[in-house]
Amino acid sequence: MITIALSKGRIFDDTLPLLHAAGITPLDDPEKSRKLILDTTRVDVKLIIVRASDVPTYVQYGAADFGVAGKDVLLESDCMGLYQPLDLRIGKCRMMVAVRDGYDYAGAVKRGARLNVATKYVQIAREHFAKKAMHVNLIKLYGSMELAPLTGLADAIVDVVSTGNTLKANKLIAVEEIMPISSRLIVNRAALKLKSAELQPMMDAFANAVK
Ligand code: AMP
Repeated sequence: MITIALSKGRIFDDTLPLLHAAGITPLDDPEKSRKLILDTTRVDVKLIIVRASDVPTYVQYGAADFGVAGKDVLLESDCMGLYQPLDLRIGKCRMMVAVRDGYDYAGAVKRGARLNVATKYVQIAREHFAKKAMHVNLIKLYGSMELAPLTGLADAIVDVVSTGNTLKANKLIAVEEIMPISSRLIVNRAALKLKSAELQPMMDAFANAVK
C-alpha cells in the first residue's frame, strides 16, 4: 500500500492532474465527504487528508510515504527524515514583506528602526531579517496577518501573496520579496529505500507530468 498525504483546497486540486498521470483518481471529493482516508482507482494507493502544516509530520514519521507541501510549510517545519525530490510547480506564490500603504519601510530600514513584524512564518522571517542585519520583534500569528499593520499590532507582515488582491483589499503594499514559493513532493526516506520498486515508478510519473 502507498499512502499520500495531501491538504484540502488548492494543493489537493492542483495535485489531481499529477495523480491522474500515475493512474490515481480519488473515489471521494474531500470537499464533500468527511472521510479523511480516501480510496482511489488504484487499490494499492490511498490518500490521507491532513492540515497543510501537518503533511511533513505524517511523511517524516512514515504514516504516509508521499506528501505534497508548500516550500513555506517545509521551511517552517523540521524536515528530518524527508526527501524532497521534485518541485511540482503548483501552488505558486511569493513570500513577501508588506506594510500599510503610506508606511515608509525603506526609511525605517535606513534608520535602523526595530520593526514589529507579525507572521505565521517565523523561521523564514527570522532568516530574512537576519540576512539584512535588521533587528525585528517577531510576533507569531496563525492567520489574517493583514490585520496586524491595520490595528497597530505590527509595522510589517511576512505572508504569502498570490494575486495581491488580499493586500490590496486591506490597503497594504508589498515592499520586499523574500522568495518564490511552490509545492514539493516529499518522500519518507526509509520508505524510499524499502519500497523503492513501488514508489519510484510513481515518482517518475509525477516528474513526467510536471514536465
Ligand atoms: P492573494 O489575494 O491571491 O494574493 O492571496 C493571498 C492569501 O491567500 C494569502 O494571505 C494566503 O493566505 C493565501 N494564499 C495564496 N496563495 C497561496 C499559496 N500558494 N499557498 C498558501 N496560501 C496561499
